[in-house]
Amino acid sequence: MSVPVVYFVIPCYNEEQVLPETVKRLTEKLHAMISAGLADPKSRMLFVDDGSRDGTWRMISEFCGANKLVSGIKLAHNRGHQNALLAGLMTAREFADCAVSLDADLQDDVDVLDEFVKKYLEGCDVVYGVRNKRDTDTAFKRMTALGFYRFMAVLGVDVVYNHADYRLMSRRALDALSEYREVNLFLRGLVPLIGYRSAVVTYDRHERFAGESKYPLKKMLAFAVDGITSFSVKPLKLIFHLGVLVSLIGFVGTAWAGIAHFAAGWAGWLAAFWSLWLLGGLILLGMGVVGTYLGKIYAEVKARPRYKIEEFKK
Ligand code: UDP
Ligand code: MG
Repeated sequence: MSVPVVYFVIPCYNEEQVLPETVKRLTEKLHAMISAGLADPKSRMLFVDDGSRDGTWRMISEFCGANKLVSGIKLAHNRGHQNALLAGLMTAREFADCAVSLDADLQDDVDVLDEFVKKYLEGCDVVYGVRNKRDTDTAFKRMTALGFYRFMAVLGVDVVYNHADYRLMSRRALDALSEYREVNLFLRGLVPLIGYRSAVVTYDRHERFAGESKYPLKKMLAFAVDGITSFSVKPLKLIFHLGVLVSLIGFVGTAWAGIAHFAAGWAGWLAAFWSLWLLGGLILLGMGVVGTYLGKIYAEVKARPRYKIEEFKK
């Protein structure tokens, strides 16, 4: 295989505090890879400005002018991490033999980038970056993450444990990805569906270099729900089973209350009061789950564009 054109795709939302360091480290890395014959000199870092409100785009533009290894695209709105990534990957697809997506905050260890490309040269179309340990996370985040992966496994969804969006994809894999038109994007679930030959590279995830996480708890939970509901309809079936179970309990309970009433003169208002709350809660829960799917269908049916590129600096 000839030396590949490698694109690093980096989504950025309000990242002016980390960008100079990220550009510096990635430039060093890319130079080293070009010298080592792992990357063609046409390789680039492609920064995607996801509608930032700070000086991120101005900064990216300046780097584009000063550093020939830097390119940038500016999205017209903030479309979220996954859509920004997609915009970058689909742009990279036109120029690159393979693209590696990574975060702007240097949490993904740039030292292992060579290993991704080596796996690609060995014939892999997808290379997943997998975290060695999660000791930079809080106990709470570790627990919820584990719960998420377990739940996905129970639902039969194929996701790679402890893999976020640090991954290499070949042009062939990117072509395959471009055929998935879904609006509710969850790349971690989609990429394994492509099914080409894949490999894993393990790495230590660092602390965010500077700035704040753009994934506070609320957004993280929403992302997890998105992941689950975009890849499995089992929650709907679970509601059905729960309905059957609760109806059975209701049936038996009613019979029992009737007997107790006539045999022992029992006043059942307390039982009736709490069953009302229980049933009300379950019904609302069920409606919530169905509603979540309905909302997804709504978005998919409208099929609005997932991102709009306003500017492209090559
Ligand atoms: N990001 C983005 N759009 C958003 C939110 C985040 O492009 O609406 C980018 C962000 O700049 C970063 C990456 O997605 O490069 C991951 O975000 P972050 O580091 O805040 O998430 P965390 O690592 O804390 O989960
Ligand atoms: Mg981060």
